[in-house]
Amino acid sequence: MIRENLKDVRNEINKACTLSGRDEKSVELIAVSKTKPVSELMEAYECGCRLFGENKVQELVDKYEQMPKDIKWHMIGHLQRNKVKYIVDKVAMIHSVDSLRLAEEISKEALKHQVTVDILIEINVACEESKFGVTVADAEALIREIAVLPGIRIRGLMTVAPYTENAEENRPYFESLRQLSVDINAKNIDNVNMNVLSMGMTGDYAVAIMEGATHVRVGTGIFGERQYAL
Ligand SMILES: *Cc1c(COP(=O)(O)O)cnc(C)c1O
Repeated sequence: MIRENLKDVRNEINKACTLSGRDEKSVELIAVSKTKPVSELMEAYECGCRLFGENKVQELVDKYEQMPKDIKWHMIGHLQRNKVKYIVDKVAMIHSVDSLRLAEEISKEALKHQVTVDILIEINVACEESKFGVTVADAEALIREIAVLPGIRIRGLMTVAPYTENAEENRPYFESLRQLSVDINAKNIDNVNMNVLSMGMTGDYAVAIMEGATHVRVGTGIFGERQYAL
């Protein structure tokens, strides 16, 4: 099942790249494996997946211990400051930085572990009350504050677009995230680059790619529906 799903997702990614005149290699697929057992992650690994996304610290650490070491782990979920220390030397990128206090904690732990941590700034493009992330209006100020912290490298932006049955409805949000990254890039802030645009999930990754996504985060489309314990 996972093998066929991955084939479909990769085809879809390639199609979106062709449609928008982009090189297929400019889009990275992050397999979002939250709630799924290691056996299923291994199946995806055997089909070539090397980027995995998790949204809980404990789960990420458990899977990190059990899975092959050439995997790049992406922390995509809300991160509590007191848990930063457990993952700072295990993740390739933290997608969900939306406050100075969190960034300061990451910086502190990065120095302690003698690593440099790549981070993305999470933007709440649709201004949804229920979502984490900084607003488009507040993004630049936050980025300027974080950029001076040691041990951290701002690599770009991330957003979780609204849930919708119609992916086209999210196109304007992806467009505004890309525009924001272009605007911020033009400010030439030291220690900040905007090479990464993490946007697009199972329901809308093709549209996100057409709007410039460099990293798509696909869970259900690869592993099937998630079952949450009640
Ligand atoms: C769960 C999750 C995803 C993947 O969602 P699907 O709709 O299953 O593809 C992507 N991004 C974040 C931040 C998530 O928490």
